[in-house]
Amino acid sequence: MAAAQTDRETASSGSEFLNFSAKDTAARWLAASDLQQEVFVHLCRAVPSLLCLGPSTEERRAEQREELACQLMLLAPLEWLLLGQEPTAGLGLLQEGNQPSPLCGHVFKVGEPTYSCRECAADPTCVLCMECFLGSVHKEHRYRMTTSGGGGFCDCGDAEAWKKGPYCHKHTPTTTHRDSEEDPVAMLPPDMVARSYSIFSILLKYAVDMLTWQPEDTLPPGLEPPEKADTFYCMLFNDEVHTYEQVIYTLQKAVSCSQKEAVSFATTVDRDGRKSVRYGDYQFCEQSKSVIVRNTSRQSKPLRVEVMHSSVVAHQCFALKALSWMGQIIQYSDGLRRVLCQVGLQKGPEGENSSLVDQLMLNDSKMWKGARNIYHQLLMNSLLMDLKYKKIFAIQFAKNYRRLQTDFMEDDHERVVSVTSLSVQLFTVPTMARMLMVEENLMTTIIRTFVDHLRHRDLQGRFQFDRYTAQQAFKFGRVQSLIGDLKYVLISRPSEWTDQLRIKFLEGLDAFLELLKCMQGMDPVVRQVGQHIEMEPEWEAAFTLQMKLTHIISMIQEWCSTDEHVLIEAYRRCLSALSHCHGGLPDGEQPISLSLAGHAVESFRYQVSQEKVSIHLPVCRLLAGLHVLLSRTEVASRFPERLPLGELSPPLLIELPLRCLVLCAQVHAGMWRRNGFSLINQIYYYHNVKCRVEMFDKDVIMLQAGASMMDPNHFLMILLNRFELFHIFSSTDARRRYRDINKDVSQQNNTLIEEMLHLIIMVISERYLSGVGQVEPFDEVRREILHQLSIRPMAHSELVKALPENGNKETGLEKVIDSVASFKKPGVTGRGLYELRPDWLKHFNLYFHHFSRADQSKAEEAQRKLRRQNGQDTALPPPLPPPLCPLFASLVNLLQCDVMLSVCGAVLSWAIEPSGGGWTESMLQRVLHLVGLALLEEQQQLENIDGDDEVTFNYSSKITRPGESTGSILSLLESLQNPPHLEVHKDMITWILKMVSNIKTMRELTSASSSVTISQRHGPEESVRDRDRAERSRKADLARQRREKIMVQMSEMQKHFISQNKELFQQSMEDLEASSSANANSAPPSQPGCVSQVCVGPCRMARVNPRQLVTCILCQEEQEVKGHGRAMVLAAFIQRSTVLSKNRTHTENHQPLFMHPDLSLGIHTASCGHIMHATCWQRYFEAVQLKEQRRQQRLRGHTSYDVENGEFLCPLCECLSNTVIPLLPHTHSVEHSVDHPSLGAWLKTTNQQIAALHRKQTDGLSEGEEPVVPEGFRLDFTPQPPFSSSVNEMMTTFSLSVYKVALKTNANDQDPRVPVLLWSTAAYTVQSIERLLMEEEKPLFGSLPCRQDDCLSSLTRFSSACWTAAPLTTAHTHFIRLFAALVPDSQVENSPSLLDMDMFHLLVYSVLSYSSVHSLDQSGVSVDSAHLHLLQLVTVAHLVQILLTSTTEEVCMDQDSGASEEEEFTCQLYNTLREHLGSVIPEVSSGWQLSRCVRAGVLPFLRSAALFFHYLNSTEPPDDLLVAGPVQWEALCSFLSLPSNLLQLHQTNNTLLEPLIHRWCHHPAVRSSLEGGGVMVRFPRESNRLIELPEDYSVLINQASSFTCPRSGGDKSRAPTLCLVCGSMLCSQSYCCQTEVEGEDVGACTAHTFTCGAGLGLFLRVRESQVLFVAGKTKGCFYPPPYLDDYGETDQGLKRGNPLHLCSDRYRKIERLWRQHGVAEVIGHAQEANQTLVAIDWQHL
Ligand SMILES: [Zn+2]
Ligand SMILES: [Zn+2]
Ligand SMILES: [Zn+2]
Ligand SMILES: [Zn+2]
Ligand SMILES: [Zn+2]
Ligand SMILES: [Zn+2]
Ligand SMILES: [Zn+2]
Repeated sequence: MAAAQTDRETASSGSEFLNFSAKDTAARWLAASDLQQEVFVHLCRAVPSLLCLGPSTEERRAEQREELACQLMLLAPLEWLLLGQEPTAGLGLLQEGNQPSPLCGHVFKVGEPTYSCRECAADPTCVLCMECFLGSVHKEHRYRMTTSGGGGFCDCGDAEAWKKGPYCHKHTPTTTHRDSEEDPVAMLPPDMVARSYSIFSILLKYAVDMLTWQPEDTLPPGLEPPEKADTFYCMLFNDEVHTYEQVIYTLQKAVSCSQKEAVSFATTVDRDGRKSVRYGDYQFCEQSKSVIVRNTSRQSKPLRVEVMHSSVVAHQCFALKALSWMGQIIQYSDGLRRVLCQVGLQKGPEGENSSLVDQLMLNDSKMWKGARNIYHQLLMNSLLMDLKYKKIFAIQFAKNYRRLQTDFMEDDHERVVSVTSLSVQLFTVPTMARMLMVEENLMTTIIRTFVDHLRHRDLQGRFQFDRYTAQQAFKFGRVQSLIGDLKYVLISRPSEWTDQLRIKFLEGLDAFLELLKCMQGMDPVVRQVGQHIEMEPEWEAAFTLQMKLTHIISMIQEWCSTDEHVLIEAYRRCLSALSHCHGGLPDGEQPISLSLAGHAVESFRYQVSQEKVSIHLPVCRLLAGLHVLLSRTEVASRFPERLPLGELSPPLLIELPLRCLVLCAQVHAGMWRRNGFSLINQIYYYHNVKCRVEMFDKDVIMLQAGASMMDPNHFLMILLNRFELFHIFSSTDARRRYRDINKDVSQQNNTLIEEMLHLIIMVISERYLSGVGQVEPFDEVRREILHQLSIRPMAHSELVKALPENGNKETGLEKVIDSVASFKKPGVTGRGLYELRPDWLKHFNLYFHHFSRADQSKAEEAQRKLRRQNGQDTALPPPLPPPLCPLFASLVNLLQCDVMLSVCGAVLSWAIEPSGGGWTESMLQRVLHLVGLALLEEQQQLENIDGDDEVTFNYSSKITRPGESTGSILSLLESLQNPPHLEVHKDMITWILKMVSNIKTMRELTSASSSVTISQRHGPEESVRDRDRAERSRKADLARQRREKIMVQMSEMQKHFISQNKELFQQSMEDLEASSSANANSAPPSQPGCVSQVCVGPCRMARVNPRQLVTCILCQEEQEVKGHGRAMVLAAFIQRSTVLSKNRTHTENHQPLFMHPDLSLGIHTASCGHIMHATCWQRYFEAVQLKEQRRQQRLRGHTSYDVENGEFLCPLCECLSNTVIPLLPHTHSVEHSVDHPSLGAWLKTTNQQIAALHRKQTDGLSEGEEPVVPEGFRLDFTPQPPFSSSVNEMMTTFSLSVYKVALKTNANDQDPRVPVLLWSTAAYTVQSIERLLMEEEKPLFGSLPCRQDDCLSSLTRFSSACWTAAPLTTAHTHFIRLFAALVPDSQVENSPSLLDMDMFHLLVYSVLSYSSVHSLDQSGVSVDSAHLHLLQLVTVAHLVQILLTSTTEEVCMDQDSGASEEEEFTCQLYNTLREHLGSVIPEVSSGWQLSRCVRAGVLPFLRSAALFFHYLNSTEPPDDLLVAGPVQWEALCSFLSLPSNLLQLHQTNNTLLEPLIHRWCHHPAVRSSLEGGGVMVRFPRESNRLIELPEDYSVLINQASSFTCPRSGGDKSRAPTLCLVCGSMLCSQSYCCQTEVEGEDVGACTAHTFTCGAGLGLFLRVRESQVLFVAGKTKGCFYPPPYLDDYGETDQGLKRGNPLHLCSDRYRKIERLWRQHGVAEVIGHAQEANQTLVAIDWQHL
């Protein structure tokens, strides 16, 4: 391929390029007689020589070069020609003269935020771009925010899209705006118009030809290149069948490229729809093609590959550029835009569908994705922005609708890249939709097209779907987009009807009824008896269809409700469709006659339990809906003569819905168990909020309609018959017989009776639909909310989910919620909740029709509890229902009809005997409810009685009549009042009897009416308190259970352990006794002269140390902590940390002995504070390991902890741990009697000791005289190992764990770095805890939780003893090197400079390593004075360090007004430094500022040192430091035995320190870093915080939408993810940004954690609104984001779209988690709690 490449270089960079003049070319073209011919001549030569010249090593550069060449040689002459002058100037002029239309038309990018106003938008598809939104009135309204899926544009400026506020500030039309009717073309110079016509025609035609061009090797006439090269492309096309992996794998094989190239190819194919994967001669390309086809054809149809001639590809490429160019040019001028529209829509000579736009549309499905995107974009910029042409285009689109949809069905691309997706832009404009409906019969077209594509029918012509496979779902999904279009058309109801519209709408309705007829009776079921069904029948497709159509059905009803004529006609047509469906229903068999309570009726011979029954009855339900509308609009009462009421046969109307309801009842009764899950699912969806409006609800309405038109006795008898219960109520014997024969049957019958009574209750009391009852539309929603909240308080989103949405995605919730509920804000966790207002409790209806059985019992329980708490009786009587509309008024008669009284009487009489399976509580409860309803009705009528009116309702007297075989209902009730087995119903019966007597009184006093009000008092607070208490005791219970479980396990273990180690056990008991006696004399003598408490140095006070007894959490045994006893350990977790890091680009530290002050990487240790015997822990850990091995054999995958890396969960609290810290006793006590040398003397001795050690280490070979060995310093001394082997073993365990985490490799315990790392984790942990306390403004001492306190104490003690486990010389060498960094030592080289050391680390290391030197000293010098001297030395060094790096800017302060001593001394030291370093450090004359700077800078060091010595020496902290408050400088200094003017340290030892300071300053690295080399750390180091987040979440979305993937040249990232630690935006969860870390491919987030957070990361996934925690490669979890909506809820996944705002408390909580190093623990707990998290491939995020 090399040859081809060099050819190209010469061709393009040749003279042609340089000599070309766009201006001259344009002039020549202008003069030509045949413009097209001239342009083609140019194109046919230039295009193949400029574009698509084969593969390039530098893809990006090649693209840029092509871009440039194309602009210069091809587009520039066109611009000259069009504008007649220099293009930039010409375009500027054009824009100036343009008066743009007020449409914004901003086209959305993928992921860009869009806004819709829930108050003003005509429909939810009307959206604004962010800029327009912020400048609009809707900002203050209730708005919804979503992220765009790409495509679509901003509707700002479209008056039809907004009920108000259609214009933002920017797009508000001014007076100079042209009239929309005026032709913008008229404003352009005529010659330009003429030129633009011809240029646009030539270019658009050229582009259309090229994009629809099929031959692979030839070009259209006039474009064949003069000399045709033998170069081809192997072009790979996108499909939706093959996965990324398949394509990548195939490409690696077929064109032998690297994985990385293959990924890049695959990414481009996915984005652009095609990509050339090989370039060369025909043979060469054909070869690859066949490999690809062969490799991908196995499971599915092969990938599409074509071998195309390079010149064809080049022209297609230019065609796209030309389209984009035209799209840009027309942005400058509305006139040019219109010209282009005219060109595009002009009919060609072939007539129909011959315009260029038609050709593009009709070839849409044949084009590749990239081409489609570009021409769709052009359509949006041109036709859709010009109101006149938008209409013409819409008509063309509607005319071709069926064909476009059919093409789309065949095509496998996503809908967003299909031209059919433009329907949303056209159909949602109400006037346009109406016009298309009238002129193009759009509604009918869409429905017919839809029906055509659903081909599966059974013999009766009903839909019958195959098994619902993925393939099916895909196809079906495509068909459903048609329903979407229908929805657009219907979304806004017409305010005015024309005759034409009526005709077309009714025509559409006919088509729709045809569709519903195909659904009526779909998927019938027959009860399975005997054996189980073999295969679950298909049901999902039918329900999906129903669900999708739900809104359409509702919308059609809404349309009907706006016009009387349409409503009547629709009712008529629906009825005739129904009778068509009913054809054959009553025929055939003889009806059966039923008689009961003196009434008789005939009914069909049919049993649900034995014959076919279907849940799908859309025709019946539509009729029910229309019936309600007749009532609501009062059409029924005004035009009864125009209604086909005579054709209605009520028993026929109710027949099918009743069957369906009975089916549900029978399923509940367990009669359909053998029919499997598919039926259960169908029943579930039938009642579900997504379907019920047009299913269950309408069936109830149909029964109400039927019952209101029938004799109530007949209705109830039919009901009894359908429920197959007639025989039970028609003769008492039958019932007895059944009860005795079969328990199952009798139970079934009981449930059926319950269900039937419930249904009757619903038929009578569900009146909250306007049209059935006399209610306002919002009463319905309010009632839904009320019943949801009577179950428990709920969050906003839960309520939204429980309510049905209308076509506008609104539930009406917001309008009423505040009237029924009060809102409680959430805390830092949880969400805001709505609680029902007490005054609404009286509206609670236990038999609310949307309660599931579970809801019902929960609500009942909650309500009864509430009433008990309020000291009320527990009766839950029916609420007063609203009055019925006239059409349904006769429904109330059901309550007092004879059959009803007989049914109720029967149940009440059964209840007299305690239930032996013969009746149920629920049955009785329902009957009592019905009685209550009847009494309420009567009372209501009595109250509303109006003079002469007669009260028709006379229930109270009817219930005094005795029944056929029983007493009167009233007497039954009276006798039921007291039996003990009816205790629960007592309150309700009492309520009923009271009502009866009330009514009696009312009837007696006919004139006056006294209403019964049953007072209700409420106390919601109490229930909250109760709940809290319950929750607490539940948690305590759980904890106790867990403890008991562990104890049982462990005591088993323990027994085993004791028997095995009898000897050891006895011995340790003896030890224990021995130590307790030795402990008595540890109290320190009181010290005169030490007035305050001090933690370091000779004056320090030791805490009275009683022996430390601890309890093992595993065996519950107590044990003293001793160096020689059984080792006790603390569960601990070690992790790398960058929380304090000031330098995130820092690489691994190769010199671990010195910590750089940037603290770029530390090792943090934490513990849950739980203590175990080392042996108990080992046992436990081994058991965990074993279990894990077994588990891994069974199922692969990860657990929440990584056993191989030593991780385990604390057996008590399940906290993630990866090692244990051995507990060590407090070691050295204060030796007050011994010598305390001065600093000078100590320095001298120490130097001598070091010299002696040097000598020993070089075996006396070093030159020079024999050094003086100080007295009592014994080089040959070997200290006794102070610990038992068990303690030593644990010391090694911990050491190696730290080593492994820190250096990511296993160590041997002799490695000299081992002690250093232990010291380092002690120092780092102290430092980070100091910062935490500071940030949270907590006192330095006394505020740490126990677990941290224990952890620090054992960590410090351990690190002070760890040198004993290493060879003595190791510790010596470390001390010598550390000491040399402060005090010059000629034998130590490469000491780091003062600016390259963190002083606190230096202090800790040198204090801890000094013990090893001190152990050789037998002279009796105290180690305490050495500690103090070291502290003082390091402090001075730190002061110097701070002064060197201070950035005091000169501020003129009055200095003469008495500078303090401290300020003076500070100036002196500073000036000394300036003497050494000169002008490298700035001149500062204000001592005040310097000393302030020093104090602030040294404070964290002092605080950390105080913590460190406190734990090291077990001193009591002074009282002053136990309280939070302003800096307690004095107390701190005195605790550390330092002067409060720290500079005195320098002053008093001036002569000793001077040489040291000299040397520090003259270290070469000091000068160079002060002169600006590398990162300079200043003090105090500012604590790291998580990045600032914007208050408004959409700012983030917007930011992320413009973020492009850094790897794939300008591509939008699919999952932009923000690092909360450093603020980097990453392209997560995507192939393009995978990198290799430690031999594994990881996603951008994981890769980033390794550089930014030492393997741990906190991210915000912007599109998901989700916080992501990642630790290592295998662990992670999602965490609630710190953004909440106004209802106090997060919106993970951004599904609801409520505006989100930053909750800073929650963000601070996340930040604290990070600073406390608690993220890994959170992940551990989350993964333990939710096993699915374990399965996620976190490393690919
Ligand atoms: Zn806009
Ligand atoms: Zn705007
Ligand atoms: Zn608004
Ligand atoms: Zn134990
Ligand atoms: Zn624990
Ligand atoms: Zn990427
Ligand atoms: Zn970062």
